[in-house]
Amino acid sequence: MYLLLVEDDLNLGKSLHKLLQERFRLDWVRTLAAARQRFAAAGHDLVLLDLGLPDGDGLQWLGELRAAGCRTPVLILSARDRLDERVQGLDSGADDYLVKPFEAEELLARIRALLRRGSGGAQPLIEAGALSYDPETQQFHLDDLPLGLSPQERGLLAVLIRAAGRTVSRERLLLQLYGLGEGVDSNTLEVRIHGLRRQLGKERIETVRGLGYRLVPL
Ligand code: CA
Repeated sequence: MYLLLVEDDLNLGKSLHKLLQERFRLDWVRTLAAARQRFAAAGHDLVLLDLGLPDGDGLQWLGELRAAGCRTPVLILSARDRLDERVQGLDSGADDYLVKPFEAEELLARIRALLRRGSGGAQPLIEAGALSYDPETQQFHLDDLPLGLSPQERGLLAVLIRAAGRTVSRERLLLQLYGLGEGVDSNTLEVRIHGLRRQLGKERIETVRGLGYRLVPL
């Protein structure tokens, strides 16, 4: 696996370079111009992209890549931690977004997840007990019967099923709703979760008090 790290901060770049070099083939560049050049020449498997760069904004390059049909996974590494900034990053075509400062372990886990996803070709069905999700068609089935979900419910359930068995934070779910153009208040989330429970059965979506929700694979 061949990674491109775009990071202008010398100290962070050095430590990331050290961390990643032990595990992957890696190029490290510090400007957008160098990123464009290296990527065009090498065609990396994954890009780690800082946003504030000396010669422009990483989002601009990301937009160009996606407009040109490039589907290489891009993980944004940025100190911009506001909800709307993260949504903007994901809407621009990033596959994931990690807010600085982050732990090395989390970065490595997210890289592994993106590389797994990227190597599959056709996306496999995701299953959790009797519930299944086809990422290509965005259709859910329960006991082989299709569910009639609203786009908001579908978006939330897609996040939950990808993390089946694990707790998903309220913040992550609100981010999903916000990305679908819903107002972000916790009541909206409650209403959507209620709607999902009505169709899936109450026991399938557990409330994890003070944290979020968990899809139970039943
Ligand atoms: Ca920077």
